[in-house]
Amino acid sequence: MNDDRVNELATKLARVEQRVQAACEAAGRSRADVKLIVVTKTYPATDVQLLSGLGVTDVGEARHPEAGRKVAECVAAGLHLTWHFVGAVQTNKAANIARYADLVHSVDRLRLVHALDAGAQRAERVLDCLVQLDLDPSDRGRTGQRSGTSIANLPAVLTAVAAADWLRLRGVMTVAPPRSDPAESFDRLSALAAEMTAEHPAADLVSAGMSDDLEQAVAAGATHLRVGRAVLGERPSLR
Ligand SMILES: *Cc1c(COP(=O)(O)O)cnc(C)c1O
Repeated sequence: MNDDRVNELATKLARVEQRVQAACEAAGRSRADVKLIVVTKTYPATDVQLLSGLGVTDVGEARHPEAGRKVAECVAAGLHLTWHFVGAVQTNKAANIARYADLVHSVDRLRLVHALDAGAQRAERVLDCLVQLDLDPSDRGRTGQRSGTSIANLPAVLTAVAAADWLRLRGVMTVAPPRSDPAESFDRLSALAAEMTAEHPAADLVSAGMSDDLEQAVAAGATHLRVGRAVLGERPSLR
């Protein structure tokens, strides 16, 4: 059973790795400049352990407390992984997430900046952050569950993260809006990232690209890819 799962993960991971390498070659980029994060949400810590055995160093999670439990299990198993929190962060869970996340990709509002900063201070660790942008041109759901700051609010959120004592602004992130051309979204993200680094030179990370659009993300200059289904298989619906 375990052997079957290792083989399945190894096969799928190798296929994704080939896609990333091909995309880097096509874009004239070095493979070393693109980090592959395997997003393991809904899958058990045992899968994370198998992936670690296959050479995965960076793992993404999207929900608390599921993420916290898995981090604890993997730490107890002696694994050293970099944990990326990529999902929407509820303000009242920010302090917990600040304890175990190494890089939070989804900072998108001032209240969350303050909650993460307070949590990081309490945990006595500086927390790396990306500001998530919502590039959906339709206004649909601006107040709904969708995450990401609007372009209009981006400067204020960036400034707040950069000014927070216990947070370190590392860059930007987006999820390509549904029914849109991901290449266009990722090009816009890269252009905004370039503007940002003029003011915040250390914030040079660009997180973009998932199972279906990692090639477009690499072409647009993404430094971090967040790939779930293509490695782990289709997830049961989250809600
Ligand atoms: C789940 C998730 C991913 C991975 O998506 P796949 O389509 O499974 O590759 C990437 N980013 C975020 C924010 C996610 O929630």
